[in-house]
Amino acid sequence: MAPFPRNPSYMAGMTEPSLLWFRHDLRLSDHPALLAAVAGGRPLLPVFVLDDAAAGPHRPGGAARWWLRGSLAALGRDLAARGAPLLLARGRAETVLPALAAAIGAGTVHAGRGYEPWARAQSRRVHEALADGGRSLALHTTALLREPHGFGAASGKPYAVYTPFAKTLLAAGDPPAPRPAPDRLAGLPHPPGGETLEALGLYPVPGEPDWARGFDKTWQPGEAGAQARLARFVAGALGRYGTDRNIPGIEGSSGLSPHLHWGEVSPGQVWHAARAAGAEAGQTETFLKEILWREFSYHLLWHRPELPEVPLRAEFSRFPWQADAALLAAWQRGRTGYPVVDAGMRQLWQTGWMHNRVRMIAASLLVKHLLQPWQDGAAWFWDTLVDADLASNSASWQWVAGCGTDAAPYFRVFNPILQGEKFDAEGRYVRRWVPELARLPNAFLHKPWEAPSEVLAAAGVRLGTSYPRPVVDHAKGRARALEAFAALRA
Ligand code: FAD
Repeated sequence: MAPFPRNPSYMAGMTEPSLLWFRHDLRLSDHPALLAAVAGGRPLLPVFVLDDAAAGPHRPGGAARWWLRGSLAALGRDLAARGAPLLLARGRAETVLPALAAAIGAGTVHAGRGYEPWARAQSRRVHEALADGGRSLALHTTALLREPHGFGAASGKPYAVYTPFAKTLLAAGDPPAPRPAPDRLAGLPHPPGGETLEALGLYPVPGEPDWARGFDKTWQPGEAGAQARLARFVAGALGRYGTDRNIPGIEGSSGLSPHLHWGEVSPGQVWHAARAAGAEAGQTETFLKEILWREFSYHLLWHRPELPEVPLRAEFSRFPWQADAALLAAWQRGRTGYPVVDAGMRQLWQTGWMHNRVRMIAASLLVKHLLQPWQDGAAWFWDTLVDADLASNSASWQWVAGCGTDAAPYFRVFNPILQGEKFDAEGRYVRRWVPELARLPNAFLHKPWEAPSEVLAAAGVRLGTSYPRPVVDHAKGRARALEAFAALRA
C-alpha cells in the first residue's frame, strides 16, 4: 500500500480527529473504543487492517475469511450510512496505523484489546511505533465481559478450573448495560484512500475451491445479522435451552458463535438480551454459563499462551499418538462409518458450523478411537469453522483430549453409537447430513453395520460402498485408547 499523504490544509483549525482500529469488534453498538474515539465530537477515521503476517499460523482460516469478508462489507455500509466510511488496509498494523495517524493528525488510536498471543505482541508493536511519533494507543474492552488479567482465584493465581471461575463472574452481577451506537459520526472531509474489499483477497482465494458458496443460506455476517439471530434466539429457543441445546437435529442453541467471535455483537449485549427475555431463570442461567465458557477460554489463553499448541497437562506431551493421514482424511470428509460423527463433519463442511454436542463426539472419536493428535483436529476446525476462535477451539480440543487444566478425564471415551441414539433418537440430524442412510430404520441408523442385509438392501445402503464400515470397531478403539492412556501414566 502506498504511504498515506498528509493533508494539512483540511487539518488546520479542525478538532483533532481520532483513529478507530477495528479488530474483533466489528459492530457500532456497545463499542467502548468507538465511543471513546468520538467523545467530544471528534471526527473519526475508522480502519480495519488485515495483518496476516502478525497472526502467522493463526491467521483466519478459510471459513473465517469468508465470514470476515461479509462482516467487513456490512460494517463498511453501516459506517458509511452514519457518515464515516471504513478504510481498509493490508499490511503490518505497526506500519499502517502510525502512518494513518500522522496523515490525519490523530494523537490517539483507539482499539479493542486483543487476547491471542500474536494479537498481544501486535498491540505492543503498535503501541511502540505510535509512541515513537508522540502518539498513543488506547485499548478498550470490546470483546469480553471482563479482562482476563488482573483477576484470579482466591489463591491469587489465574483460574485453572471453570466452575469457580464462573461462580465468581456470576456473583459479580450483570455486566454494565450495553450502550447504543451513535446515530451520526463525523467523518473526515478528505479521508486517505484505502484498499477495496476485493483487494484484501479474503475470499474466494484464486486457485482454491469456493467451498463456502452455500454458507449464505445459513448465515448473515454483520451486526444486523447478529442482532436478528439474537432476537430470534431469545424469543424462542432460549426458553428450552437447557434440554434443546443438546439435540443437534433442531435449532436449540443460539448460533451466535461466529457473531461473537468477530464481535458483531458484544457478550454484554447477549447477556442482557437473555436476561430481559423473560425465559425461566434456570434456562437463562444455563445459557449464560456457556457465555462464561467463552470467557474462561480467553482467561486460559491469556494466562497459558501455549494453549493452542502445547498440552496444558505436561505428561500428555509423551502421549503415543499414531498420526495417520488416511484416518485423518476419513474423519475430515465425514467417512468414518459412525453416522453421527459423519453428519457433524459434513455439517461443518457445508455450513462452516457444527453443533456443540457433535463437536464433542467427533473430536473424541478422532483423539481417542483413532489416536490422532488433537492438534490435527484443531487445525481442521480452524480452517473450516466460521466461528474458529483460538481461545475456544484450543481450550475445547484440550478439554476433549483430556490434556486441559479442567479437562474431561481421558478415560471417559464417548460412545458414538449411544451418543447418536440418545441425542438424535429420531435420526433427524443424521438423515439430513448423511442422506445415503436416510431410509434406514431408527433402530439401525446409528449402527448400520448391525442391520440385517435385507434391511440394508431395502434402505438402498451398500456398506463399504455407498457408506463406509466403521474405520475402527468401537470396543477395540476404546480399549486401545485406554491402553495408550495407561502407558502414559506408567
Ligand atoms: P450456544 O449454545 O448458543 O452458546 C452461546 C455462546 O457461548 C456460543 O456462541 C459461544 O460463544 C459460547 N460457548 C458455548 N459453548 C462454549 C464452549 N464449550 N467453549 C467456549 N465458548 C462456548 N466455539 C467457538 O466459538 N469457536 C471454536 O473454534 C470452537 N471450537 C470448538 C471445538 C471443539 C472440539 C468443541 C467441543 C467445542 C468448540 N467450541 C468452539 C465451543 C462450542 O461448540 C461452540 O461455541 C458452540 O457450538 C457454538 O454454537 P452456539 O453459538 O449455538 O452456542
